[in-house]
Amino acid sequence: MARVSPMDIYKLLPGLNCKECGEDTCMAFASALIERTKEVMDCPPFEKDEYREKGQKLLELMTPPVKEVILGTGERAVKIGGEEVMYRHELTFFNQTALAFDVDDAMSKEELEERVRYISKYTITRVGQDLRYDAIAIRSKTGDATKFGDAVMTVCENTDMPVILCSLDPDVLEVGAGIAAERRPLLYAATKDNWEKVVSIALDNGCPVVASAPGDIQALADLVALLEDNGIQDIVLDPGTNPTGDKFGETIDQLTMLRMLAIEEGAKPLGYPILGVPAVAWMVEEDPIRAGFLEASITAAQIMRFCSIVILHSPEVWSVLPNLTLRQNIFTDPRKPIKWTPASTRSASPTSRALL
Ligand code: SF4
Repeated sequence: MARVSPMDIYKLLPGLNCKECGEDTCMAFASALIERTKEVMDCPPFEKDEYREKGQKLLELMTPPVKEVILGTGERAVKIGGEEVMYRHELTFFNQTALAFDVDDAMSKEELEERVRYISKYTITRVGQDLRYDAIAIRSKTGDATKFGDAVMTVCENTDMPVILCSLDPDVLEVGAGIAAERRPLLYAATKDNWEKVVSIALDNGCPVVASAPGDIQALADLVALLEDNGIQDIVLDPGTNPTGDKFGETIDQLTMLRMLAIEEGAKPLGYPILGVPAVAWMVEEDPIRAGFLEASITAAQIMRFCSIVILHSPEVWSVLPNLTLRQNIFTDPRKPIKWTPASTRSASPTSRALL
């Protein structure tokens, strides 16, 4: 798909050069929209009836082929997706891959609190940027809705990070969504078997939804169409993560195909952020060191291959640090080299400081 040019945008602007948007001219505003330093509605004349239709057309024109989805609320809300190009050098990538870490409802309250606080507070500074973890994925391991609700409550009391509620049982999801509704949790997941109930929970609580159809892109597109037709606007795609053998190669191929279909073919049902689950490494490796290495490798591949969010199990710094660095390198803007004063302080959480 051809990229939108400043002239395409300019044609839809009011053309008043009134400076109300903070730019000197409408053309400068068009460039700012391309750079995403301004938004369409930063042009106040679009609120007037005479420009409303043009404004609507411009909003449609400016919607990126991969829709941007916001997880969570407040200061720690995370934007995922919103990408326009396949490769960073063609423009830039806008929203870095979010790193989510799992907890589950079989953990004791004390274990849960300790792990959540660690994930929430972890920060390491590299070339002047603070690198942090982004979200907590709460898994229903017991299948018990009451235990899941208790776990969701404990997580929400101990962090303001976005949360992902993980269960294929809508009754379990419903309890968690009710408790965490204020922070707009991501529901994982709607499938061909449960989507109607999950849609109902999402609409009641204003939640984004993961559409899950492992290994089948057509089934994923069909499921997304069902969610869209029933009022879900914020969707995340889960094409499945196979951790080993030929199936791992298929996983990576499908990630590439999904992004190509969205960006180069304009396939609208696939124009959403993609989710990967490197934590599946822990299902095939019992040894925690081997599992940590496998998880880190899968994470690297999925960051490189267009996943907008990944769910990990190990928050250990030796396992995650290489991918924090990889992510930082990929998601800095190639048009703006990082500027950093060597005298800037180097800081890290206590755990990572020991390794620096
Ligand atoms: S506010 Fe709108 S009309 Fe006025 S200069 Fe900016 S883009 Fe042009």
